[in-house]
Amino acid sequence: MVVNKRHYTLLLSAIVLIGFIATSLIGYFVAKDSLTERLQQEMLPLTSDNIYSEIQRDLLQPLLISSLMANDVFVFDWVNDGEKDASKMTSYLAQIQKKYNTITAFFVSESSGNYYHPSGVLKRVSSKNPDDHWYFDAKNSAGPYVINIDRDTADKRRLSIFVNYRIEDKSGRFIGVIGVGLSLQTVAELIENYQKRYGREIYFVNRQGEVMLQSSHYRSELHLQDKAGLDKAFLKVLTSPSASFSFKTSSGNTLYLNSRLVPEFDWYLIVEQVNDPSSERIETAFLINLAVAVVISMIVLALAHFAVRGYHDKLEMMATQDKLTGVTSRQVFEFYFKQAVARNKRRDESVSLVLLDIDLFKQINDSYGHQAGDLVLTRVANLIKSHIREEDVVCRWGGEEFLLLLSGCNIQHARDITELIRSAVASMQFHFNNEIVHITVSAGVAEMHTDELLGQVVERADHHLYAAKRAGRNCIRPEVDEEE
Ligand code: GH3
Ligand code: MG
Ligand code: MG
Repeated sequence: MVVNKRHYTLLLSAIVLIGFIATSLIGYFVAKDSLTERLQQEMLPLTSDNIYSEIQRDLLQPLLISSLMANDVFVFDWVNDGEKDASKMTSYLAQIQKKYNTITAFFVSESSGNYYHPSGVLKRVSSKNPDDHWYFDAKNSAGPYVINIDRDTADKRRLSIFVNYRIEDKSGRFIGVIGVGLSLQTVAELIENYQKRYGREIYFVNRQGEVMLQSSHYRSELHLQDKAGLDKAFLKVLTSPSASFSFKTSSGNTLYLNSRLVPEFDWYLIVEQVNDPSSERIETAFLINLAVAVVISMIVLALAHFAVRGYHDKLEMMATQDKLTGVTSRQVFEFYFKQAVARNKRRDESVSLVLLDIDLFKQINDSYGHQAGDLVLTRVANLIKSHIREEDVVCRWGGEEFLLLLSGCNIQHARDITELIRSAVASMQFHFNNEIVHITVSAGVAEMHTDELLGQVVERADHHLYAAKRAGRNCIRPEVDEEE
């Protein structure tokens, strides 16, 4: 029973604990999944959209300025006049640069090949010079302008944008390329800002995967291909207009990546984030859930333990106690008897048994009813209890028969106690049907002989009880001078 009880509480706690852990784990993974999904499908693309719209805003101004310059009558007239006074063009460019606060303003003439700049004529462009390719790209372009991005040679992180606007005269003849250069300051600031606020890595790569622009905190490789974990995925980035995926880095972190093509630059804007910060909160919530689960399981364990123990004790009591009188039941008497025998053997003392029977009890039942009989039984039991010591045992042996186990008592002593009980019972009064009723008891006493079994002692006591009944009841046998 004890083993079963322990098994039962352990099983119950295990079920509760497993249930809690399972729900916590499911909650954890669902939250993590939805967070990953949100990060990949909403947060990172949103960052990328914001940056892209800033790029477009930054581009708008130089485009407008360049378009104005490309349609300026002064430029047409001055070129048609044969580019006579270079200072006219350079001061025109200086004026534009000052007015719009651009980093540069330029004009390259097709007929002379001169590169005009606010500071003068810098050089002649040549198709053989790789540095001048931008001019020929613009010249051969089908569109009205070509945007060229260049990193500042002084500061590699600084991005400058050049709008190379084609000039054509009324007949569509190509005259040259004019435009301005501006720094993409807002984009650069935005990149820094996102980096600081969200820990997101933002950078641009060209079609070959070379990192072209990055924040001041950028710590990774300068080629996408060389980035740990991205060696295979980089092809996916460089072949689709936009991509979104996550992968494990060598340090065990998860890296979320979003890429999109910026057609104006012909570069890819890449937004990366290592381990979303809110996943830490999810982990904390998961740990709290687990702790709560353990605490609740322990409470359940304790409650189950006490409940089972309570039932167990109750069952035990029901099995060991007589329901009507509350004295020891016959089933467990032998256990008490063996205990007492062992104890008295150690102390070298005697044990005596008394079999006590209510006289003519049947008449009580017959005359006053079963309830009256029950009351008599209960009161006699209580009276016996009040006459014996704590370590003695009184047991309901049969219907109206009690067996008393008296420790440390030889037959004389046992007889004395029984006599006290007998006379106390005889002086008890019951009120049934307005009558005063008296009852008596008879008893047989037997002292246990060495190594005698319970049955043998009881048999002798029963024998004496029978003698008492025959002697006219309300008495004890054997008498003092009688041989056992
Ligand atoms: P004696 O003096 O020879 O012992 O006569 P008696 O009438 O006491 O003996 P008998 O054995 O003939 O009757 C015992 C009666 O006790 C019979 C039974 O109905 C009654 N009895 C047994 N258990 C209970 C009980 O729990 N409650 C009540 N009210 N009566 C009980
Ligand atoms: Mg009787
Ligand atoms: Mg009897």
